[in-house]
Amino acid sequence: MGGTVPSPREALRRLFGFEDFRPGQAEAVRAALSNRDALVVMPTGSGKSLCYQLPALMRDDLTLVVSPLVSLMHDQVSALSAVAPGRVAVVNAQRGWDANNGAIAHVRSGEVRLLHVSPERFGSPAFARALADVAVGLFVVDEAHCVSQWGHDFRPDYFTLGRAAARVGAGAVLALTATATPRVAEDIVRRLALRDPVRVTTGFDRPNLSFAVIDCPGAGDLERRLTAALSEPGALPAIVYAGTRERSEQLSQSLTRALGEEVIAYHAGMGRDRRAAAQERFMGGDAPVIVATNAFGMGIDKADVRTVCHASVPGSLEAYYQEAGRAGRDGGPARCLLFAQPRDKGLHVFFIHQSRLPAEAFERVGERLQSRMTGLPLTQLRLDLDIPAAVSDADGWYNVRLSDLLGLTSEAGGADEDSFRDVIGHLARAGVLAPAPASPDRAVGQITGGWDGRAAAACLESAREAERVRWSQYRAVWRYVEGRECRRRALLSYFGDPSAGALAGPAPGVPPGGCCDICESGPAHAVAGGLPALAPV
Ligand SMILES: [Zn+2]
Repeated sequence: MGGTVPSPREALRRLFGFEDFRPGQAEAVRAALSNRDALVVMPTGSGKSLCYQLPALMRDDLTLVVSPLVSLMHDQVSALSAVAPGRVAVVNAQRGWDANNGAIAHVRSGEVRLLHVSPERFGSPAFARALADVAVGLFVVDEAHCVSQWGHDFRPDYFTLGRAAARVGAGAVLALTATATPRVAEDIVRRLALRDPVRVTTGFDRPNLSFAVIDCPGAGDLERRLTAALSEPGALPAIVYAGTRERSEQLSQSLTRALGEEVIAYHAGMGRDRRAAAQERFMGGDAPVIVATNAFGMGIDKADVRTVCHASVPGSLEAYYQEAGRAGRDGGPARCLLFAQPRDKGLHVFFIHQSRLPAEAFERVGERLQSRMTGLPLTQLRLDLDIPAAVSDADGWYNVRLSDLLGLTSEAGGADEDSFRDVIGHLARAGVLAPAPASPDRAVGQITGGWDGRAAAACLESAREAERVRWSQYRAVWRYVEGRECRRRALLSYFGDPSAGALAGPAPGVPPGGCCDICESGPAHAVAGGLPALAPV
C-alpha cells in the first residue's frame, strides 16, 4: 500500500474499468467510505452492487454482505472475483466445512475483504468467534425489503440483522433493495436500526422497458394472446410468470404445442435437480421460454430477456415490478406484458380472506414454540444449526421446521409457509418472541414474553394492519390494471419516484412508441391486445 489514497473515481476506473459513476452510486460510495449508514433503493440493473463492492475494496477492513439466497451469493462472488481475485469469499451451509474454514482463514489473514454470508450464519457461535478479532467495516444487507412485513418476500429472520451488525461491531450498515415503497423503506430503516441514514434513491424508471396490460375476457383469450405475443419477432427469450405450480405445468405444455418448440416449467414443487436443469437450459439459451412461478426470481440474472409475461395479475405492484424488471437487463428494448382475466380479481379477494388468521393461531403457535416441540433432540439441532452449546430449554429457544407447524395457523390446516411466517412476524411485533436467523424452512428464535391478553391484542392489531396493507396492495394493482393512465407513470408514482409527477407523455430516454399500451393508443382507444412496439421505430 502506501502512497496517496485514490479517489473513488480513480478506484472505480482502476478496479472496474468504468469512466464514471451511474446515478446514485457516488453518494452511496461516499456514505460507505465515511462510515455512514445508508439506504440505497435502486432498480435492478442499475449497478446496485457496486455501491458496496467499490468501498469494500477501498477500505482496509472486512465487509460482510448478507443476502437471502445462496444462488445470488454465488453469482455475485464469481462476478466480483474477476475484478478482485482472492479478495472475495463466501461462507454458507451448502459448502463443505473445509471450504468454509478456508474462507474464514483468508478473512482472518486480511486477504479477503468481502465476505458473503446467509442470515443464519449469525446464529452460529463458531462464526461469531471466528470474527471476534476481525475489524468489520461495512455490514451490507442485500434485498433489504425482506426485513419488512409490509412488502413481499418477508423473512422474519431479517428482523435481527440490525442486532447482528451491532454485535460484530460494524462501522456502518448499508441496506440495499430494488423495490421499496416509501412505507417499506421506513420499515427497513426501523428494523435494521439505521442511524440517520443517507438515503439514495435513484429513479425507478427503466426506459428500455415497455408496459402493456392485455385484457383476456374469454376462456381461450389468455393462451391465444400469450402465444401471439411470444410469436412476434424478437420476443424471445421470455419468462412467463404463472400464478401456481399447476398453472406453470399446464401452460408450459399448451405453449409447447402452440409455439412448436419446447417450453419448460419452473416451480418449487419440481425438486432441486429438475429445477436446476430447467434454469440451466433457460440461462444457456437452450430453451427460450420458461413458465415459472415466483420461485423463479431473485438471483437469476439473464441479461437478454426480451419479454416478461404475467399470465395472471400478481398480488402487489411490488411483486409485479420486481418480476417484470427481469426483462431487458442488457439495456436493450424489452416488453412487460400483464395478461388480466376477470377471475383474477375474485381470486385476490379470496386469498386475502383466506390469509386472515384466526385469533387462536397466534396462541397455538406461541404455545407450540414455548413448549419447544422441536421434534428433534436438542443435540441434533445443535449439530444441524450450530446452535450455542449453552442453549437449553430454559433459555427459551425454539427451533422448528416450518412444515411441522403448518396445521397450526388455520382451522382447515391448509395454510402455507407464508402465513406461518406472518404469524411469527406478528408474534415478534407483539414482543412474544425474537426470531433468529435461520434457513428458510425453519423457525429459530427465543421466547421473550408470555402469552397474555396484551400480547393477544398486539398480535391481532398487527394482523389487522397486515390485512389493511394487503387490501391497499390489491387496490393499487387493480388501479394499475384497470386504469387508463400511462403505465410507466402509474408504476413510478406508486414507488414514490419524484419524476412521476412531471411525466406528461413518455419519460425521457423512452424510445418513441416504446412506453406503454396507453401512450400508444391513447386512453380512449386502449384496447385488448394492443401492444407497444418492441423496438424503436
Ligand atoms: Zn406510457
